Amino acid sequence: PNANLFAALRANFPADLDQTAIEVADQPGLNYSWRDIDRATAMMANLLASLDLPAGSRVAVQTEKSVEALMLYLAVLRAGYVFLPLNTAYQAAEIEYFVGNAEPAVVVCSGKNFGWVSKIAFNAGTEHVFTLNEDRTGSLLERAAHQSDQHNTVVKGADELAAILYTSGTTGRSKGAMLTHGNMLSNALVLKDYWGWKAGDVLIHALPIFHVHGLFVASHGALLNGSKMIWFARFDPRAVIAKLPEATVFMGVPTLYVRLLGEPSFGKEACRNMRLFISGSAPMLIETFNEFLARTGHQILERYGMSETVMLTSNPYHAKDGARRGGTVGFPLPGVGLRVRDDKGQPCPTGEIGGIEVKGPNVFVGYWRMPEKTKEEFTADGWFKTGDVGRIDTQGYVTIVGRSKDLIISGGYNVYPAEIEGYINDMAGVNESAVIGVPHKDFGEAVVAVVVAKPGAALDGAQIAASLKSQIANFKVPKQVFVVSELPRNTMGKVQKNLLRDQHKGLFA
Ligand code: ATP
Ligand code: MG
Repeated sequence: PNANLFAALRANFPADLDQTAIEVADQPGLNYSWRDIDRATAMMANLLASLDLPAGSRVAVQTEKSVEALMLYLAVLRAGYVFLPLNTAYQAAEIEYFVGNAEPAVVVCSGKNFGWVSKIAFNAGTEHVFTLNEDRTGSLLERAAHQSDQHNTVVKGADELAAILYTSGTTGRSKGAMLTHGNMLSNALVLKDYWGWKAGDVLIHALPIFHVHGLFVASHGALLNGSKMIWFARFDPRAVIAKLPEATVFMGVPTLYVRLLGEPSFGKEACRNMRLFISGSAPMLIETFNEFLARTGHQILERYGMSETVMLTSNPYHAKDGARRGGTVGFPLPGVGLRVRDDKGQPCPTGEIGGIEVKGPNVFVGYWRMPEKTKEEFTADGWFKTGDVGRIDTQGYVTIVGRSKDLIISGGYNVYPAEIEGYINDMAGVNESAVIGVPHKDFGEAVVAVVVAKPGAALDGAQIAASLKSQIANFKVPKQVFVVSELPRNTMGKVQKNLLRDQHKGLFA
């Protein structure tokens, strides 16, 4: 049997290939049938095959979000090469790093970037550079148009490489996580079952497709279930709300939920046919979970995953499996092992905070061309150290309290940023906060808080610190509290604490 992920997705296309597979929301009338997907991916796969690329060749792609870009991903799988998506925000220095590091045989970029991207690619030894634009133009499609629309999916083993996904770079330089066909298919099958995908489901796809969330979790979910996607090239809360009544499933990062709630028109009426809202990629505030429930009657299902592992944990979908608990990321998915260890590698008792380690068929095979780093991040008994810090409660719910790199050690005491952030976020007038450690000459690190006020609220940093003093131990109280208009975030809505640390590193040094 063929373990190629595309073969599994293709096998689940509906029998009637003329049904709509993807409806482009921002271009009314632009619909793609399942047959269109089958034919276009065959043509692109044939184009790739015609290039006589060495086995294992990487196809690096930095284009705007489009259905054709998704089809290119599927075509790369189908042709048996390795897909390598790149964040659309990356500029020359970043592309130079990624292309230099990954040495792709093929690069596909937006026409408007062809000049500088092709120069970098040719310098790095790439032989083929194609363009693909949002409006379905560019050399990739022109060349593919001459190819046959029949293609036999290349046979792959479950342990063969399917994609290299560069991590978001939240904690430092991005690493290329090598994922196999088996990693991704096993995870997609588990999620199909766990989230109750069923006939008639329609997914609103409004996430970028250069990241695990939009490319794998969302797209695989719909494709594996033969479900229609309503496709948004970019997230616009009003446009999404207008289409929600035609959908049953929505996936978003926490900021998307905040923006939906920011629309007065958003409520039960828009969600009347919705079955499931899923959140992940960054921690969701409990306030968002509660307000969403009050406004729509829906409990957002929060899950946790990463580029290296696809999805790891999820709150339950079926009530019989337990309640969806805001502020937690739920249970380890079926087949995923998850344990919490202290910094000496000893198991933490239930409820105690430690490093989260995981194992399972979804866990990647290593960082691209970083054997040392790969070795460091796996334990002797084969568990992957996620770099996230958390705990498991008596009922098995996992809570993430932060990243080990964000852990603050002040005067020898461990300070968990999420705990302090929780207290600050509960204060009147506070919208959100980020707690960081900065170098301190006496304490090693000092706790510093950066706080965003609710619209119209006036906050005083010294007052926030003073009121924390009456609530928590002195070593946890921020030595300085800054009130700012917004926190720095990357495109996936993750707060970039490294930027904040950098900005404040001279405070007490
Ligand atoms: P880098 O590894 O380059 O520093 P990154 O870890 O942000 O970047 P990703 O692989 O995109 O790159 O993100 C995975 C991380 O996102 C997880 O390790 C975790 O810290 C965070 N994350 C994902 N889902 C959740 C969630 N539901 N709650 C809290 N954190 C989450
Ligand atoms: Mg990471």
